[in-house]
Amino acid sequence: MRIVDLRSDTVTRPTTAMREAMYRAEVGDDVFGEDPTVNRLEELAAERLGKEAALFVASGTMGNLVALLTHCERGDEAIIGDRSHIYLFEQGGMAALGGIVPHPIPNQPDGTLQPEDIEQAIREDNVHFPRTRLLCLENTHNICDGMPLPVEYTRQVAHLAHKRGLRVHLDGARIFNAAVALRVDVRELVKDVDSVMFCLSKGLCAPVGSLLCGDRAFIAGARRARKVVGGGMRQAGVLAAAGIVALEQMTERLEEDHARARRLAEGLADIPGVRVGPVATNILYFWLDGPAVNKTPEEVVTGLAQRGVLVLGRELGRFRAVTHYWVSDEDIEYVIAAVREVLLS
Ligand SMILES: *Cc1c(COP(=O)(O)O)cnc(C)c1O
Repeated sequence: MRIVDLRSDTVTRPTTAMREAMYRAEVGDDVFGEDPTVNRLEELAAERLGKEAALFVASGTMGNLVALLTHCERGDEAIIGDRSHIYLFEQGGMAALGGIVPHPIPNQPDGTLQPEDIEQAIREDNVHFPRTRLLCLENTHNICDGMPLPVEYTRQVAHLAHKRGLRVHLDGARIFNAAVALRVDVRELVKDVDSVMFCLSKGLCAPVGSLLCGDRAFIAGARRARKVVGGGMRQAGVLAAAGIVALEQMTERLEEDHARARRLAEGLADIPGVRVGPVATNILYFWLDGPAVNKTPEEVVTGLAQRGVLVLGRELGRFRAVTHYWVSDEDIEYVIAAVREVLLS
């Protein structure tokens, strides 16, 4: 049976080029700074993002946590979107492990935070208050329809934050999807933030790993924070080798995933009872609505799974489908037919 796994772009397996690079990777002890492949990946990432330095970490969650631990002291406060990945899906690690107070403000449907809301959330200097230290943004915004945050928006709110003495961290797990969707160099999207994390292990297909980028002093601090959370890896060049291939070969092609997500949305929207959200990148949310529907969401997820189509069910009341390297044009047509069949059977 054909399997089309649309649950996430994290299900992507490494490409043949990655497996070959992993096999050949020159390695050393990275905690001693002696893994040449990790060093090369970190230099490449810094260069691609236009930052001074980068740090290879085990996951996006670790990259965000390490960034927050580096920017903030215990008792400091970070302003953060109420639908952001850091706030919703990282176990509150910033508070649990870093003693950092999250200050959530509303994410708009396009994933942005209103400048007025940011402004209002910043505390004045007063013995009663935590010190507001950091603003966190997310691009693309996972829960907000995978929306990319424009260059101008990022510039504007980063400027606002800096003027008030805050630093800015960008959760850019899918920053290359944003760059491709907006047709801008990724450097433009991150040039105004102090740190950015991006994932190699999502649409870029690497098996493991993320990078945290920033200036040299920040990355030196982050290297210490990575060690204390157990993220000092040894011959990690085996993993970094796949990451180099990801950066060199897999970023530009993301447009294909976006085109397939648009085609999927178009096909699903034609099915009675199916509503689709806006599609700007590789993430599509859809839900059931109207008199034509006589299936529960659970029955739909199960019915699709029986046909080899895997989607995430009911995240905030919606289904999620994410396109990626291992999903072809034929797979998309197969999925549209399968949804039709499940709903109309
Ligand atoms: C996936 C994701 C992360 C976390 O990455 P992991 O590697 O799964 O820990 C962080 N932020 C966003 C927006 C994500 O989509």
